[in-house]
Amino acid sequence: MAETILSLSGIEKHYGNIPAAVDVTLDVRVGELLVLLGPSGCGKSTLLRLISGLETPDQGTISSNGRVLSDASTLVPPEERKISLVFQDNALFPHMTVCDNVAFGLPKHKAGARTRRVGEVLDMVRLADVAGRYPHELSGGQQQRVALARALAPQPALVLLDEPFSDLDRTLRIALRDEVREVLKANGTSAILVTHDQEEALAVGDRVAVQNAGRIEQIGAPEDLFKTPASRFVAEFVGETDFITGEVTPTGIRTEIGTLDQTDGMPVGTAVDIAIRADDVAITPDPNGPGTVVSRTFTGMQNVYRVRLASGAIVRSLQPHTLVLTEGTHVQVRAAPGHHLAWFPAGAYGN
Ligand code: ADP
Repeated sequence: MAETILSLSGIEKHYGNIPAAVDVTLDVRVGELLVLLGPSGCGKSTLLRLISGLETPDQGTISSNGRVLSDASTLVPPEERKISLVFQDNALFPHMTVCDNVAFGLPKHKAGARTRRVGEVLDMVRLADVAGRYPHELSGGQQQRVALARALAPQPALVLLDEPFSDLDRTLRIALRDEVREVLKANGTSAILVTHDQEEALAVGDRVAVQNAGRIEQIGAPEDLFKTPASRFVAEFVGETDFITGEVTPTGIRTEIGTLDQTDGMPVGTAVDIAIRADDVAITPDPNGPGTVVSRTFTGMQNVYRVRLASGAIVRSLQPHTLVLTEGTHVQVRAAPGHHLAWFPAGAYGN
């Protein structure tokens, strides 16, 4: 297990009766890219501000490299934390060149060392050729790379990135997120990236922490969150999940779309709600089929169908773009064999 660069323990922060951080305990490992994922207003930015020192926790301990940054009796100011922040709107100085913006993060360096370091980080983000330009002469993606270079210049212990790609269009966002991940990895930089976009979280995170109303509901590798969500909230937020009911039988969990080849040690007769996603559901047109196509969403390579089952439950089904079914088409619906599905106690919403 890698060493820890940042530890949060029992962090609480409330604004009046709004819970922004509730009993947050987590570690960031050296060189790790941890993604903080959750819906707008769940407390992601607040957590970054607490870590950077721009906010003070009501309770709990924050430490970095074994040094306490914040607890009941200690409060290290932001500039002494060796933590850099990159914001969504990049916050570059408009009247300074790229070079000067990056150098701004290095006030204590001697001129020679400063120029050298600025050159290094601009090379790292592949912007050396625009060093003399002003921010308004750059594209949105280039501006974000300058902001990243400025954050990396002082060799911080940790970089915090607050929705750094959300102002960019989709193509650029995907290109830049891959690039930022590469730069952080090449540099061995530990980082926390905040996003509300589950696809982005799964794509870039070494681990992902899912936050809901201030509380971290689960932390794990992207695949683990996807395959074994710890709560309904995580299941719904990560991977667009539908739920169907099931009952454990001696041969598996019986559902209205077939018996799943799993009992997971539950006693026969246990009632469960099964978390099921579009890639877990197979459909075939059949005039006598119990399912009815409600809608089709064309996403390019694939069609995503919403299908109403006999019980009234709706499930989604991912199909190639070559299978085109109109609304009202009757279909057979089957759980795809070999997919182990997550389940929750029947009807226990809120867990
Ligand atoms: P996120 O980054 O996940 O969108 P925030 O951390 O910005 O969420 O906010 C969490 C909650 O705390 C929200 O309900 C927000 O309105 C509230 N909040 C954040 N900062 C303040 C503040 N300075 N004063 C009062 N309420 C705040």
